[in-house]
Amino acid sequence: MTCPHCEQAAEFHSHRWHTSSSLVGPIRYCRAYYLCRRCGQGLFPFDREAGLTTRDLTPALERVATLAGAVADSFEKAAELLDEMAGARLSESTVARTTEDAGQRLADAAAAGATFGPQVDWPWHKDYDGKRCAYVELDATGVRQQGAGGGPAEGRMAYVGMVCNPSPEWPWPDEKPQPMQARYLAGLYPLEEFAPLLRAPAGHVGMDRADRWIGLSDGGNGLEDRLRENFPRVEVIILDFFHPAEKLTGLARRLHPQDEDEAEDQARHWRQWLKDEGGAVLAAVLREWDWPHRPGLREAVDELIGYLEHHAHRMEYPEYLARGWCIGSGAVESACKTVVGQRLKLAGMRWGEDGAHAVCHLRALYRSEKGQWEAFWDRDFSCN
Ligand SMILES: [Zn+2]
Repeated sequence: MTCPHCEQAAEFHSHRWHTSSSLVGPIRYCRAYYLCRRCGQGLFPFDREAGLTTRDLTPALERVATLAGAVADSFEKAAELLDEMAGARLSESTVARTTEDAGQRLADAAAAGATFGPQVDWPWHKDYDGKRCAYVELDATGVRQQGAGGGPAEGRMAYVGMVCNPSPEWPWPDEKPQPMQARYLAGLYPLEEFAPLLRAPAGHVGMDRADRWIGLSDGGNGLEDRLRENFPRVEVIILDFFHPAEKLTGLARRLHPQDEDEAEDQARHWRQWLKDEGGAVLAAVLREWDWPHRPGLREAVDELIGYLEHHAHRMEYPEYLARGWCIGSGAVESACKTVVGQRLKLAGMRWGEDGAHAVCHLRALYRSEKGQWEAFWDRDFSCN
């Protein structure tokens, strides 16, 4: 037996009893203990071979604990879920630690350019020019982070990237309608490090063989530049419709604070306008609107008009739709929300940077098309 620390021979020392946690309860067994006489480190080769985690979980239990940790509202709920569904009693902190360790492993793989499962060729949907279109999206979102001493901290942004093949609203007769295919990647990175990581999954689904590349973003600082830099064939970058739509909903609620139905009605009208006429026209309409005098409303209106004008060239929605392009709206909720928001931005949550980074990766993998999560756990991945 070779010592992993100093690479000298480690000698058999004794047999020792141990208990690990598995999906069928605790398992007690006896295994050999080796000791390195040079550096004094001891090792249990069997535990390593069996793939036990640092918290003594078997790989099968680690996998379900991580799944629970990634999908439940909190690690506390994840521990309850595990007990309820698998009869596995793990503490909240064990679930948290196990999830974060697995997420970090996934993050390391992503950083090394790993892709999961077999190389595929997505059947890219055609636009009205008959060109097969591939979409790539880059968004940013904030995650509340915990500083030293328990207070809030200024932390890195979470970036969310997606390569996708959305199903067209009006498919060609020879096209089989199918649900959207998507691969996500998310984590707390510096933007210039994050954007290149999207290239590996893009290559893995055959983006090079699409005729036309279309970019989507939330319009945030630097996103467009990074998209163009890493995906030079991108012809146009569209402001994901979800983002202005959400802002319009916010403004409608300020306009009708007492009446939810009225507010939703108003928001729907504005959204339709934006789709039919584009950002510049909606900005002009809102400028002429007869706004009631109410504290804060005027400022909110001006801010939204400024937003629409600033991004107008990315909001030519009538043209995009007429060309058969996806504008990011509709059935598909924003990647930021499904991948990050629904787990990391719930009420009262604060995260440590490492934990948030790890869980972002797991969420992204879990939300990706079927087979991705499984491939990671089956260790079916390769680095370019
Ligand atoms: Zn040693």
